[in-house]
Amino acid sequence: MRLEQTGWMEVGDKLKNPQGIIMATGSTEQHGPIGLIGTDTICSETIASDVASKANMYLAPSIGFAPAEFNMKFPGTISISAQTFKSLLREVTSSLLKHGFKYVLIVNGHGANIDPIKDVMIDFNNKLFFKSWWDFPTVDNIRNKEFGDWEGMHATPSEISITQINHRVIENTKFKKIAENPPQKLTKDFIIAHSGDKHGTAEEHHRAFPDGRVGSHSAMANPEIGKKIVNASVEGFLEEIERLNSTLL
Ligand SMILES: [Zn+2]
Repeated sequence: MRLEQTGWMEVGDKLKNPQGIIMATGSTEQHGPIGLIGTDTICSETIASDVASKANMYLAPSIGFAPAEFNMKFPGTISISAQTFKSLLREVTSSLLKHGFKYVLIVNGHGANIDPIKDVMIDFNNKLFFKSWWDFPTVDNIRNKEFGDWEGMHATPSEISITQINHRVIENTKFKKIAENPPQKLTKDFIIAHSGDKHGTAEEHHRAFPDGRVGSHSAMANPEIGKKIVNASVEGFLEEIERLNSTLL
């Protein structure tokens, strides 16, 4: 149940039973020639909303503004500082905990959120938890099997596949043609050095990856694969909730 679609009396009643709340974090940034600007938020929200309804929990409004400075040369990207992101997350978490939610579980969809989330978690010992949607071995298996090395790091066929389940598919033939051209392949060293979206300045990033994809062949995206990934990730989160509930509630 979405928190914003409930009344305060309902929330009060529901909180008579101790429970946590789910929240998605994403970003608002370019995702290559056929990827939506909201891809990261759409992916984490799609999974978080499924998790919340299956676990009978509330879903807090998503945090879709995030650090994405490296993509600022691409139109449509909105970037906030890690400091602002951390303040926002800290204050949102405090509000939810004040009302009696026992914990906040974040479903994350953006690499550059990981370090700031970890920093904020230090202030909320055993009250704030997170996993990125790709953190489960079952999800990894699907990504490897379906896309192998073409998964890459940004505007991945996996994330575009998830957006294609229920959101707009960009059909522009010119942009599709650009996407059908394989992107530049990444070396293992590059992937290790740049994990967590450590991509340098906007200028450097735009120069190195002019169509916005970082080793990801997004034209391979397919909503059927997206559904498989969502299901595997949702299962992972439901197990995580069972674990949290059995230790915290
Ligand atoms: Zn993304």
